[in-house]
Amino acid sequence: MKLLVTGGAGFIGANFIHYWVKKYPKDKIRVIDLLTYAGNEESLKSVKRKIEFVKGDIVNRKTVKKVMDGIDTVVHFAAESHVDKSVLNPESFMRTNVKGTKVLLEEAEKAGVKRFHHISTDEVYGELALGSGEKFNEETPYAPRPDNLYAISKAEADDVVLKFLKKTKMGITISNCSNNYGPFQHPEKLIPVAITNLIDGIKVQVNGDGLNERDWIKTEEHSSSVDLILKKGNHGEIYLVGSDNVSSNIGIVRRIIKLFGHGKEKIKHVPNRHSNDKRYAIDASKIKKELGWEPKYTSKNFKEGLEETIKWYKKNESWWRPLLETKAPLYDSSNKVIAYMNLDRELGRTKIEYRLGNGGRKKKGQKGLTKDKRRISSVMKKIRSKKWYVNSEPNVKEKLRKLAKNPRTIGFVEDIANRPETIGGVQQLTVSKVSHSLEGRKIYGVAAWFMVKEKGGNINEVGYYSWGMGPKSGAKILVLLKKKKKISHIAVYKNEKFPVGEEVYDMVGGFPLPNESIHDLVSRNLLNKIGIDVANPSVKLEELIGLGRIMPDSGMTNNHPLLYSVILKVDDTVFPSMKKWKKSVED
Ligand code: NAD
Repeated sequence: MKLLVTGGAGFIGANFIHYWVKKYPKDKIRVIDLLTYAGNEESLKSVKRKIEFVKGDIVNRKTVKKVMDGIDTVVHFAAESHVDKSVLNPESFMRTNVKGTKVLLEEAEKAGVKRFHHISTDEVYGELALGSGEKFNEETPYAPRPDNLYAISKAEADDVVLKFLKKTKMGITISNCSNNYGPFQHPEKLIPVAITNLIDGIKVQVNGDGLNERDWIKTEEHSSSVDLILKKGNHGEIYLVGSDNVSSNIGIVRRIIKLFGHGKEKIKHVPNRHSNDKRYAIDASKIKKELGWEPKYTSKNFKEGLEETIKWYKKNESWWRPLLETKAPLYDSSNKVIAYMNLDRELGRTKIEYRLGNGGRKKKGQKGLTKDKRRISSVMKKIRSKKWYVNSEPNVKEKLRKLAKNPRTIGFVEDIANRPETIGGVQQLTVSKVSHSLEGRKIYGVAAWFMVKEKGGNINEVGYYSWGMGPKSGAKILVLLKKKKKISHIAVYKNEKFPVGEEVYDMVGGFPLPNESIHDLVSRNLLNKIGIDVANPSVKLEELIGLGRIMPDSGMTNNHPLLYSVILKVDDTVFPSMKKWKKSVED
């Protein structure tokens, strides 16, 4: 067999390759993987000489065309898979998971590939009721929770496959598998977090009450199911894969802690995660009956499976330790890195750092605030399309060009470039002058003066302030107060409306200080503007959700385009009555 494995440097892909190399040493394996923060070539180190590795993007048609050459079977694992990341960076999920799948299918068909197996997830079916005993099967309708963008993108990818298989002769199958565990899983996921934290003497965090249930399958069982589907599965068939091993998250954590010889003192409950579905469980009767698949690891020997996994993590510290330092980059719509995220092991939360980078220097393995030629050229293309730019004096154009080339100031030019030719009948003629507050790092805004022709024909000079887009953007935060499991209040504060001085109620937020993370920005603003101290143990910052960016009037006034909502669980002893509290803050 000549196999192309997409996403082979990821958790399940790497396990699949190890399985295949061992079982079918004569087969040829080519891997395509973009090596995002989730991909790790180290996972394939011991089989390096037995495979061909191509670093490449499954969305890139040219690359995909090349890697399809001579292939007869494709197993498609590559995906953006981090649910927290999908909240902050939905575009990359749609791009890789949906568009990537489409490109692969089309190029595989063109290259005469005989078999294409698409790996999907049980998350496309939504959630089941807790403790219900219910299970998903092949007839269950798709119903991903609307706020789980990972699940939505996987459901859309499945849809692409289902439509494609109706019009092709290539043999296509799909499997929707439950949660995997085993070697090579990134130490930010539940089981590896518990294991690696305990190795380092750190408490294990459990989201919320930890009662959420998942159906756990050992990775080699997932691999054996794909093996069987490739050999015996018929075109167009969908198989649900799970090994009868439903457990609550807290149940797993307790087991692992016990295997380390500790007790419940090692558990720390932390606020629940965003989009934490209640229960997933799989009825795998179809693959068992039709293909004769029989998993060896089920609930009966889960302990054994966990012991083996713990042993692997203990033996392979050199594999996972470096990963604790890696951060997943988050991109804006122009593909510019705006932040990094990783897991805070002590807090059990995904930490998002809105950093300015390190002075424009590239850190090893990270894309810092370096010159992004693509973004510069797209901003320059946009501004050059404006008559008011073309007709401006060369020195003004030169200044704007210079600002666009600087990674710290390109956002301002992007904002200016959005300015239309005519606003409310007022024609923008030229930019007469460009200036900014301070040189270097601390530019918070760029002022551009435009010569404009008013409706009556008068020519005037008007100054506009641009606040920039990208990493230096300000953020607005919708503060929701939760009392007794219900959101009871929205917290706002009195602010002076810029520039007229009128008093208005405003959402907290503002500009981040240099190198300030979004969490710090939120905490600082909550304390300074509405008097809530998140360091106070009776106030719990339960959830911080990135809502994306809003640019309602295309530039100029959107100084705080990043939007967040924060849920604060407030204790009655701190806020005896909202009225009293409001008064104390106003005083
Ligand atoms: P992972 O995030 O560990 O690995 C994904 C791999 O895909 C990484 O190596 C990454 O570098 C690569 N990749 C991402 N974007 C790419 C692109 N544009 N081009 C090429 N490569 C790219 O994920 P995983 O947990 O190994 O999951 C693999 C597959 O299995 C996914 O399709 C996922 O939906 C599915 N799945 C996972 C689970 C689970 O428990 N982890 C359960 C069911 C299904």
